[in-house]
Formats: sequence, C-alpha cells, structure tokens
Amino acid sequence: MANWLIKRDVIIIGAGAAGLMCAIEAGKRGRKVLVIDHAGKTGQKIRISGGGKCNFTNINAGSEHYISQNPHFCKSALSSFTPGDFISLLEKHGIGYHEKEKGQLFCDEGSGAVISMIKKECAEAGVEIHLNCRISGINKQELFKVMTNSGAFISGSLVIATGGLSYPKLGASGFGHRIADKFGIKITPLKPALVPLTFNRNDLRSFGELSGVSVKAMVSCGNKEFYGNILFTHKGLSGPAILQISSYWNNGDAVHINLLPDVDIFKVLIEKRQIRMEMKNLLALYFPKKFIQKWCEMYIRSKHVCQYTDKELKDIAGSLNAWEIKPAGTEGYSRAEVTLGGVDTDELSSRTMEVKKVPGLYFIGEVVDVTGQLGGYNLQWAWSSGYAAGQYV
Ligand SMILES: Cc1cc2nc3c(=O)[nH]c(=O)nc-3n(C[C@H](O)[C@H](O)[C@H](O)COP(=O)(O)OP(=O)(O)OC[C@H]3O[C@@H](n4cnc5c(N)ncnc54)[C@H](O)[C@@H]3O)c2cc1C
Repeated sequence: MANWLIKRDVIIIGAGAAGLMCAIEAGKRGRKVLVIDHAGKTGQKIRISGGGKCNFTNINAGSEHYISQNPHFCKSALSSFTPGDFISLLEKHGIGYHEKEKGQLFCDEGSGAVISMIKKECAEAGVEIHLNCRISGINKQELFKVMTNSGAFISGSLVIATGGLSYPKLGASGFGHRIADKFGIKITPLKPALVPLTFNRNDLRSFGELSGVSVKAMVSCGNKEFYGNILFTHKGLSGPAILQISSYWNNGDAVHINLLPDVDIFKVLIEKRQIRMEMKNLLALYFPKKFIQKWCEMYIRSKHVCQYTDKELKDIAGSLNAWEIKPAGTEGYSRAEVTLGGVDTDELSSRTMEVKKVPGLYFIGEVVDVTGQLGGYNLQWAWSSGYAAGQYV
C-alpha cells in the first residue's frame, strides 16, 4: 500500500491562472509540485478572457477595485506581485501587449500566447500537471492525502485553486467551497457577478426588441456608479457598465441609468424650443434611432419640440438622466464572469494565503472572497495570490 502513495511537496488543485502561477513559483524554489485538474486543458478561463485577447491585468490594480468583506486583505498580495511584475514576465517571453482603456492591458497575439508562456514557465520549473484527473477524496493526517482516478498522492502543502462557480461548462465547480466546508472554514455568501441583468416582464415586453442596440451611459446602484456602454440583449441589459454594476446589485434593488451623462440635455431642449422638429428626431441626434423611438413611445408623447412647456421639457430631460429599471435578476453563473464571495479572508493569512487553523492548506484565486471589478483585476488577483502562496508552500 505504501508505495501506492505518490509523494510530492506541494499539490495544487486547479490548473487556472492562480494555480499555475503558484506552481511556477513553488517549482522555482525547488519544491516538487503536482497540479491536478479535472478538465482536459490548462488555463481555460485565461483562453476566453478578454474576448480571447486576455485582459491580463490593469495597471491601476489597487484594493479599491476589489470587493471583499475585508477590503484590506488583497493589499499584501497585490503589492508582492504587481501588474508591472506580470508585464516583466511577458516581456521576458517577447510577448506584446497594449492598453485599451482605463488601464486595461491586453495581449497583442491573444490569450494563447499567455497560456504558452505559463506552460513554458511550468516546464522550466519542473511542474508536473495531471489533467482529466478526478478527485474522489481529500483528507489530512500528518500529510494531506488526495485520492484520484490516477492514484493517491500525499503532500505537506495543499493548495486549492479551483476558482468560483461561473462558467461551469469550462470546468468551474463548487469543489473549493466544499473543501473549505470540510475543514470548517467559513465561506461568505456567493452570487454571480460581472453578469448581465435580466428585465422584469414589463420591461422585457417593451425593450426586448432592442437586442443588439448599445448606448453610452452612467449606471448606478446604491453609491456605486460606472460609465460605459450598456447593451440591450434579448433578456435584459449587458455591456461593461451593466456588468460592473451587477457586482453591487442585490435582488430588489433599482438600477439608475443616466442616458446622457455627457450632455446638458435640458439646456439643449430649451435652446431648441422654437423649432418645428419632432422630439424623437431631435433626440435621435444623441441615440441610436431604434432605441430613442422605443424610449419616446414608452415615456413621452413625441410632438414638435415647440409644442412642449418648459415643465414638460424639464421632465423629459429628467427622465433621460434618470431612467430607472428594476431588474428581475441576473443571467446567473452560466454567464457570470466571476463569483462574488468565497473563502472568508478572516480564515487566511493575507501574506501567504495559508489557512490559519489548518497549517499547510492554502486557498488562492477566485475561490477566495476577493472579487475584482471588470478590466483585468480578476486575473491580477489570481496571479498575485498565486505568487504569494508560491513563496511559502
Ligand atoms: C468569459 C470570461 C471572461 C473573463 N475575462 C477576464 C479578463 O479579461 N480579465 C480578467 O482579469 N478576468 C477575466 N475573467 C475572470 C478570470 O478569468 C477569473 O477570475 C480567473 O481566471 C480565476 O482564476 P483561478 O485560477 O482562480 O480560477 P480558474 O481559472 O477558474 O481555474 C480553476 C481551475 O480549477 C479546475 N477545477 C475546478 N473544480 C475542480 C475539481 N473538482 N477538480 C479538479 N479541478 C477542478 C477548473 O477546471 C479550472 O481549470 C473572465 C471570466 C470569464 C468567465
């Protein structure tokens, strides 16, 4: 039985961004590292990230761009492996990148180049990767024991890097949360985030036909607001500004949308108040025609601009600046870019990611209650938390 157990220094479960970064760093320290994944490929989420172009980091990555019950927790890891450190790695491999907007960095050649780089680094660090490997049980005596369909492995360090619940078709599972539960580790409430919102029945009837139309807007919920495109879908609203606000939205909340954040539309309407132009045609100068026709049909009776009173013009401007929707929900984990919530950061050392009450057990990446905003922050958290653990496992 004894020689049936295969010993490694470190076992990492999850061959995503966090797990592979941790493996590289531990391997470079001379540790014998085994990475296990039930999927058939490494880094599947890296591959689809940024629409295949991999928005691998954001140069502004600081704690203010992350949601966590402890907003300070991510600071240590983010400062020990920064966006600049990941850029240096890309440059070492001759991989080009560019900034798109708001500090978001994308890979010129697409995400495949990042995955190849990571695989090369893993090979150089002597990391062993077992794919299509199913885990049937984990327990801890003196060492951790991981039972799989390709044998039983033991190690002094066990790293859980199995990500969140979003995109189950790419291998996401609740495995990390179940392991946390097994070891009596607290988990904060989970919900899909960076996810499209769905219309309630009335709004769907009114706006469902606008699917494909996009508008620049300022979207707010509570005290958070985001500027960017909103995209009408056949179920509700998506686009960067909606994905961002979805992370702060809770069931029952209203979402406020300023459809003309860059224009003082009341001033424009007052200036044009003498003209014999239909209101919907005037507003079509600022919006896609299909959208404004529908919006006018829903909220105002379009007539010539000169036929409105000042009060009516004020009301029209007001409703363009404060369109309120009450979403029915979200499109759920199947369309969410990330999972909000996770392993409670109170349980972990912010420097090493080790579980305080279970020495040798580590949680990194999206499985932890640290969720980035849209724009490269989630991959940066995966790299940084993986790097942090990699120095200690
Ligand atoms: C469509 C989409 C686009 C995105 N775009 C971006 C972007 O451009 N920029 C950005 O910063 N973030 C982006 N994200 C988020 C980002 O990809 C993730 O936050 C990040 O990849 C998380 O890394 P991770 O290593 O923690 O987890 P993951 O990358 O999810 O890796 C977890 C690994 O664990 C494996 N696993 C799960 N359960 C088990 C099990 N039971 N046994 C064995 N293995 C298991 C999975 O197969 C997977 O390989 C995007 C996400 C999605 C879904």
